[in-house]
Amino acid sequence: MPKQQAVIIPIDAAHPDQTRISKLGAAILAGALVAFPTETVYGLGADATNADAVAAIFTAKERPNTDPLIVHIADISQLSLVTGHTLAELPENVAKLVTRFWPGPLTLVLPRGPAIPNGVTAGLTTVGVRLPAHPIARALIAAAGVPIAAPSANRFGHTSPTTAAHVFADLGDRIPWIIDGGPSQVGIESTILDMTVTPPRLLRPGGVLLEEIEAALGMPVAYQERSVTSAAATAQAPGLLLSHYAPRARLLVFEGADIAATWERAVSEVAALAVRGERVGVLSLDTLAGRFRTAGAIAIAPLGTGDNTASVAHQLFAGLRALDDAEVSTIVCGAFDPMGLGLAIRDRLWRAAGGVVISVDAPAASDEAREA
Ligand code: AMP
Ligand code: MG
Repeated sequence: MPKQQAVIIPIDAAHPDQTRISKLGAAILAGALVAFPTETVYGLGADATNADAVAAIFTAKERPNTDPLIVHIADISQLSLVTGHTLAELPENVAKLVTRFWPGPLTLVLPRGPAIPNGVTAGLTTVGVRLPAHPIARALIAAAGVPIAAPSANRFGHTSPTTAAHVFADLGDRIPWIIDGGPSQVGIESTILDMTVTPPRLLRPGGVLLEEIEAALGMPVAYQERSVTSAAATAQAPGLLLSHYAPRARLLVFEGADIAATWERAVSEVAALAVRGERVGVLSLDTLAGRFRTAGAIAIAPLGTGDNTASVAHQLFAGLRALDDAEVSTIVCGAFDPMGLGLAIRDRLWRAAGGVVISVDAPAASDEAREA
């Protein structure tokens, strides 16, 4: 049988076409997969209450079934279907966060309700739930009339998609429908906060900032930067895998307390690699693009300026894909401060590099890191 190609349906985010949205909502309800834009990245959606439809997500992505999915809702009333509790029945801290950050890029891990099949949560008794801000995402969920389970719409382990074209490149021969609603604004995934433990635990930094969450709760939140899930620990913190978001090219991330020094080191590394004839690409701060070119980089993905982390997050994954498209063999990048969105940017870069960074502060460690 010839392979089916996904149909790309353009929908204007400012004025979602209700006829198209209704058809795609009906497709979800009938068990089909639909890729759709959210403000974080593009998601691959299925009816979260339909075990077969959810299983098809794992097949299309080649995602291990130990990695749970986030369930997306259109309004607060759907929270009780997903968690088995109304907002009023959940702890007061949940209401504080929901009021402050929903709709938006914050996923809360809450108790799982009976309507959500095992396959969604990898058998966990908890479920990750989010009310996205993107008008197309919300209109689609509302039209389907059921919560939508959706991971990022990429092949497992690959860079998350921030445009419909990225989704098509990864999954175009495996799914029927892709909504094109333009580029995702935030550009990296939602923040994930486990609300079933005390104090709440940040499982993944993302679009909503740790500092904002702590201010809203009036208490500190637990977070361990660069935690990795081993097979044994999957039940506690699934999905925090190393080697995630990975480009095809080798990614070298320079790190150190002196941020400017990490970028200087990146420039000299580009020069050293280019002299050896390597095709080098750079995730570059705008101010350094000229220097990277002079050093011999053949492709530059501009991230904006280092103090505008929103622009860095917005362009990070698209930049990795653009550099792969330019067929570079190595991608070079410097460091970002672990504050604000910088925390999420560091997390994605670290995982995209397979958990290896090159320390600019301590040369001895850098040689080890390189060999690891
Ligand atoms: P994504 O692939 O971006 O959709 O991310 C889904 C991630 O959310 C998983 O890889 C987990 O890290 C996290 N997650 C989802 N559900 C849960 C849960 N019930 N408990 C802990 N983490 C979860
Ligand atoms: Mg993902």
